[in-house]
Amino acid sequence: MKYNGIEFDTYFKNYPDENGYFGKYGGAYIPDELKKAMEEINDAYFTICKSSKFIGELRKIRREFQGRPTPISYLERLSNSLGNVQLYAKREDLNHTGAHKLNHCMGEALLAKYMGKKKIIAETGAGQHGVALATAAAYFGLECDIYMGSVDIKKQAPNVARMKILGANVVEVTHGLATLKEAVDAAFEAYAREYKTAIYCIGSVLGPHPFPMMVRDFQSVVGIEARAQFLDMTGELPDAIVACVGGGSNAMGLFSGFLNDPVDIYGIEPLGRGTALGDHAASLQYGTEGIMHGFNSIMLKDENGDPAPVYSVASGLDYPSSGPEHAFLHDLGRVKYDVINDEETIDAFFTLARLEGIIPAIESAHAVAYGIKLAKQMKKGSVLINLSGRGDKDMDYIIENYGIR
Ligand SMILES: *Cc1c(COP(=O)(O)O)cnc(C)c1O
Repeated sequence: MKYNGIEFDTYFKNYPDENGYFGKYGGAYIPDELKKAMEEINDAYFTICKSSKFIGELRKIRREFQGRPTPISYLERLSNSLGNVQLYAKREDLNHTGAHKLNHCMGEALLAKYMGKKKIIAETGAGQHGVALATAAAYFGLECDIYMGSVDIKKQAPNVARMKILGANVVEVTHGLATLKEAVDAAFEAYAREYKTAIYCIGSVLGPHPFPMMVRDFQSVVGIEARAQFLDMTGELPDAIVACVGGGSNAMGLFSGFLNDPVDIYGIEPLGRGTALGDHAASLQYGTEGIMHGFNSIMLKDENGDPAPVYSVASGLDYPSSGPEHAFLHDLGRVKYDVINDEETIDAFFTLARLEGIIPAIESAHAVAYGIKLAKQMKKGSVLINLSGRGDKDMDYIIENYGIR
């Protein structure tokens, strides 16, 4: 399928290019001492992703450890409540550890093992990436250092406990504001010291090449499964698919299965409290081109050109940029990016719980809210929503801040 001059039959062969660019976005803007480390990861990935042993081992893990394939559920009562459009959910909430993140963490940790590394390193904000990575480290018998700001450590006590129970080393970062940004810097510094024996595992389709590509490839299992399952269930492709976009990994996972199909694709960013800078994290909607955390993309900047403070009710969507591939697909128009605010999200959270018996992660509830909006606009057809994770982690927060609706 050709779209805006781009041939999608050969899309995955051509994007990213060998330097990690999706059009003008992507690349690897990193200190010289880390360039060699990234090249080593890139070379290893290119060898390994074609090896039947690696692919076979990853397939076995997906099936026997993660519980894949995750099902697609037809949301019958929700659909009936809205009219003639049929809504479906891809159930990444049923993936082991309760979200899609384990899909790329298991891939990254398997790569680390094949490269002979002893340790995996990452930062975490809300702790979701840290828990998924600690799980992968335990599975493979790797050491695991998770860098986390002291403010986040206090706020996210259950996830800190999970990581420790899984045997990970939670490294407290106390300088500056002691949140995610400082944790990213500290983790990068640690990696620069330890790259001979350790590998840095990025938590989304972000960071320097080859991470946006690798994480997309590891997440593509979601889209590949979903396309086959949907065809099997309905005999057709969905008319539209929807996913929330923080860094953009669950979205790229689903989208990659449908880019070459006549399917409308929607990526949903968090509008938070409103359109003023600092009240949302809708980078593709309101941002401009810039370089941060090792890659070129569209980002929200403050008056000095640095990453701006962002806000969303969903801590997993709280990031001032999105992966370079999203910036590319945005400019191309192949994926439409839109926003959902906090209020609409919380409504959708309760609606899905009440009508379907599924408590979604607040991140995923953004996609649910947009699916509901679409269903009201469309006269007929079908919408597939990526339910990126379950909402157990969010229940205390919801009760405390919104009560029972
Ligand atoms: C982390 C997280 C997200 C956001 O990350 P992406 O890379 O944009 O997918 C979305 N949903 C859940 C449940 C998460 O844990």
